[in-house]
Amino acid sequence: MAQLTFKNINKVYPNGFHAVHDFNLEINDGEFICLVGSSGCGKSTTLRMVAGLEDITAGEFLIDGKLANQMTSRERGIAMVFQSYALYPHLTVYENLAFGLTLEGIDADVIEEKVQATAKILGLEPYLDRFPRALSGGQCQRVAVGRALIRKVNIFLMDEPLSNLDAKQRVTMRSEIKQIHRSVGATTIYVTHDQTEAMTMSDRIVVMNAGRIQQVGTPFELYFYPRNLFVAGFIGEPPMNFIKGTVEGGKLTVGELSLDLTPIVNDVAALEGRKVVFAFRPEAIELDPKGSDHYTINSQVDLTELLGDTTNVYANVGDVNVILKVNPHKTPAMGSGFSFAVPYKAAYVFDQETEQIVENSLERH
Ligand code: ADP
Ligand code: MG
Repeated sequence: MAQLTFKNINKVYPNGFHAVHDFNLEINDGEFICLVGSSGCGKSTTLRMVAGLEDITAGEFLIDGKLANQMTSRERGIAMVFQSYALYPHLTVYENLAFGLTLEGIDADVIEEKVQATAKILGLEPYLDRFPRALSGGQCQRVAVGRALIRKVNIFLMDEPLSNLDAKQRVTMRSEIKQIHRSVGATTIYVTHDQTEAMTMSDRIVVMNAGRIQQVGTPFELYFYPRNLFVAGFIGEPPMNFIKGTVEGGKLTVGELSLDLTPIVNDVAALEGRKVVFAFRPEAIELDPKGSDHYTINSQVDLTELLGDTTNVYANVGDVNVILKVNPHKTPAMGSGFSFAVPYKAAYVFDQETEQIVENSLERH
C-alpha cells in the first residue's frame, strides 16, 4: 500500500506550456481520489507524472515518504488503465491478462492461478478463450482493468477509463471499479471530466482548472461547501444558479429583485459597494417553505422539461436565466409567473472579483 505526497509539483512542457501549477496534495494509503476538471486542465499530465511517464519539472513527489521523482514506473509499483484500453487483438482474454506476467518470466501455474483469480473478481471467467473483437465495450474495459489488477501493485491509476462506454455500461462499471477498490485496497487516482463519476466514486475529489487545484474535499464538502465560483459551477447538474449584482445598503438589487444579504453573510458591511454573485442550486428551492428563513424570488417560466422523477424549469428573473428542479406534479405552465423560495442555508454569496466564497457561518445540509 502507499501514501502519496505532492509538494509544489509543476509541469512545464518542452514547448514552454505550463500545464500544472504548484500542485500540493497528500493522498492517504488506500484512498480513492478523483482528479476532475474540464478537458485540458492538466489531469492526465498530473497522472502521467505519478506514473513516471512524464518528468516532473519542479517540486517533490514522494511515495511513503521516499522521494520518487526519479523512480521508474516499475520501482513506483504502479499499474495504469487508459481510456483506449488497447488490448492485443490477436490474443485471447486469458493471454491478454497473462501477458505482463509472461514477460516477467513468472511460472505458468502461478500465472494460471492469478488469471483465474482476476477473471473471477471481474466476472470474466466465461470469456477467457474469446478474442477482444468478440467482446462488448464494457467487457474489453474489464479486461483492461484486469490486466492492471493482475500485477500486485500499491498504486492504481486510471485515466478516463469509462469514456468509451455507453451511459448504461458506465454506471455498471462505476460500481464495479468501486467494489474492486474495496477488495484490493490499492491507493487509487482516477481521472475524469465527469463530475457525476467523481461524486459517486471518490473518497475525496480534487477539482482542477487551468492547471491549478481549485479545491480538495469529500463529495459532500464540494457539493455543500464550494470554496469558489469555479467549484460551485462545476459540481452539480444542472449547475448552480448565479445572480450577479452590486451590494448597496446590505442588499443585492437586480431589477425587481432585492435580496437582503444580512442573514447569510457574517460581515455584510464589508461587502458594501462590491460586486457579488448570489447563488443557489436548482434542487435546493422550496415551493411551500415553512418559517421565514428564506428568500422569495419571482420568475417567469420559459420552458419546462419533464424528466420523470423531476421537472427542470427554465425561468428568468428579470434578465437572469435560472434552472429550477420541481416535483413533476408541481410543474408550472410555460409563460406563467412562478414564485419559489431559496432557504438561507441553501444560498451562497461569492465575490465577483476574487471569485471566492464570502464567509458565513450557516450549516448546510
Ligand atoms: P486533461 O487530461 O485535463 O484533459 P492534459 O493534462 O492532457 O489535460 O493537458 C493539459 C494541457 O497541457 C493542455 O493544454 C494540453 O494541450 C497541454 N499538453 C499536453 N501534453 C503536452 C505536450 N506534450 N506538450 C505541450 N503541451 C501539452
Ligand atoms: Mg486527459
